[in-house]
Amino acid sequence: MSAGPYNYSYIFKYIIIGDMGVGKSCLLHQFTEKKFMADCPHTIGVEFGTRIIEVAGRKISHKLVEPQQVRRFRACDSSFPTTEVASLSALLVYDITRRSTYNHLSSWLSDARNLTNPNTVIFLIGNKSDLEAQRDVTYEEAKQFAEENELLFIEASAKTGDNVEDAFLETAKKIYQNIQDGSLDLNAAESGVQHKPLQPGRSQPPNQPNPTKEGCAC
Ligand code: GDP
Ligand code: MG
Repeated sequence: MSAGPYNYSYIFKYIIIGDMGVGKSCLLHQFTEKKFMADCPHTIGVEFGTRIIEVAGRKISHKLVEPQQVRRFRACDSSFPTTEVASLSALLVYDITRRSTYNHLSSWLSDARNLTNPNTVIFLIGNKSDLEAQRDVTYEEAKQFAEENELLFIEASAKTGDNVEDAFLETAKKIYQNIQDGSLDLNAAESGVQHKPLQPGRSQPPNQPNPTKEGCAC
């Protein structure tokens, strides 16, 4: 296989959701750029990021999407077909120093469940773990919430980078495992996983979702 942008086996797609200010954009930047953007501007419309990492010896492109508003995003971006939005793996983020962001998780979770298929991996991330002195949500209660709702769970810090890589790697491993054991059907348009992209110049095969429109300003 040639080197360059097409040198990977799958594209895994993630949607990052949670209350405003919990650190979604910072997590996205920490994962894709390996640095903390302290003065991240407010997300307007949609934010995208991509990084290729290896899982089980295969190069996988991770495509992250942070919509400002899930429902509005879904309604307004016609270049992002409903089937594709409906298929994304979800990273559900709260801020361990703000209990209100934790209290809103049930509502975010039902959004995530509505937007994804039943085999979708949903990862709960308690962000800002570097602010231990200001902690407002215990690890134990969040862990219990995760268990009750069958979510993967980790506390992380977009600021120090602590556990950020692990959160994505664990999600990717779980998705890969679902592919291996057949519980995720790659041929289903709503699987959230895409095989390697077409070589430049080739037209889109049937049943493939359209590529996303970068920088939708809806
Ligand atoms: P979003 O609205 O969820 O996308 O949140 P942002 O990523 O824009 O972050 C909101 C604020 O939290 C910003 O001021 C960030 O600098 C800060 N922030 C984000 N992640 C962390 C973290 O892990 N630790 C600390 N101390 N601050 C963070
Ligand atoms: Mg943001």
